[in-house]
Amino acid sequence: MLELEEARERILGVIPTLPAESIPVGTAVGRIIAEEVHAPIDLPGFDNSAMDGYAVRADDLKGASADAPVTLQLRGEIPAGVVMAGSVERGTCARIYTGSALPQGADAVVMQEDTRPVPGHPTEIAFLDGIKPWENVRLRGEDVKREARLFSAGEVVRVGGAGLMAALGLKAIRVNRQPVIGLLSTGSELLEAGQPLAPGKIYESNRVTLATLLMQAGAVPKVFPLVPDTLGATQAALEAALDQCDATITTGGVSVGEHDHVKKAFEQIGGVMEFWKVAVKPGKPFVFGRRKEKFLFGLPGNPVSALVTFLLLVRPALLRWQGATDVNLPISQGRLAEAIVNRAERRHFVRVRLDATGEVHSTGVQASHILSSLAQANGLVDVPPQTTLVSGATVSVLRWE
Ligand code: AMP
Ligand code: MG
Repeated sequence: MLELEEARERILGVIPTLPAESIPVGTAVGRIIAEEVHAPIDLPGFDNSAMDGYAVRADDLKGASADAPVTLQLRGEIPAGVVMAGSVERGTCARIYTGSALPQGADAVVMQEDTRPVPGHPTEIAFLDGIKPWENVRLRGEDVKREARLFSAGEVVRVGGAGLMAALGLKAIRVNRQPVIGLLSTGSELLEAGQPLAPGKIYESNRVTLATLLMQAGAVPKVFPLVPDTLGATQAALEAALDQCDATITTGGVSVGEHDHVKKAFEQIGGVMEFWKVAVKPGKPFVFGRRKEKFLFGLPGNPVSALVTFLLLVRPALLRWQGATDVNLPISQGRLAEAIVNRAERRHFVRVRLDATGEVHSTGVQASHILSSLAQANGLVDVPPQTTLVSGATVSVLRWE
């Protein structure tokens, strides 16, 4: 049986990077950047005003105060998007607004509140305070310099990053393609939602949770029909899914029962088992296999085991496939509100809820078929074998929400 880290390394070691494609910046949030992005222009692109006020030469206002205002001649107005013809000469000023281009000659902007009109002289403005050069001016390139490197390959596009690229006039970005992942649920007991419940049958739930987690990891889920527990049906389903997708996730049918056909069916269609079984609870019978450039992630059928093994072993692979540098789940530190005990010989990934105050609560019964405790959870705590984590201890919570 492999340790979790070893299993993870074995998977990451054989996952290639998908080819790059260009997509609109507006749809790129969450995607993994394929090539460095450089700034094509300065940002701001020109010196401009940070205020509504008056563009001046700071030197002209030396000594100005409310008691002894300095008066300048108003020589023009600069609405947004317009460049003033001519320049602000000694003794003059120009009306300016936030974001308007600073006119030639001016080196500062006085905010409107520090000025007042001169009654009877509409072309004169009184200034009630002095100002330092470049005050209230946003300088060209102070945010981003032309040619500066903005993003590296392997970074995820964030909301603010997409906004920055848009501000720089970039329309498209090179990102790595998203893997298409087939979802097969095996089990003759399984029913689709909407079918009448029959004795001994249960509603299938893994494809819903896994499709959602796949999308959160940047992959494209392709949901296949339910697969009954026969070797023939399992083979046919795997063949179809592997033909149409980059990889297939199955759930169920990977334990030791006579009706567990996934491993055998995969081998019969030419797949090679890379490993089976990982020393984690829940999720021990996890399978990883390969058929040429396509992969099989065989998850246990219990919904909790399927979710946990997906997060620990499949999610990193999906991110690496898209070229991501960071493939780990986000981690938050929290304080245990109650003790958590693991009496087992295997590491236990315990379902917890990390609340807004940083307290970590177990969500209840931890058996791998208990869905209500999954529904309350937003994270997992990795509890070593035969270990008690005491109430009040600081723990790392692996988060998926
Ligand atoms: P298996 O891994 O096939 O032995 O299944 C283990 C347990 O998980 C059994 O109780 C199954 O009925 C249940 N199970 C398997 N697949 C699913 C599924 N897709 N949705 C809900 N429960 C499932
Ligand atoms: Mg089964």
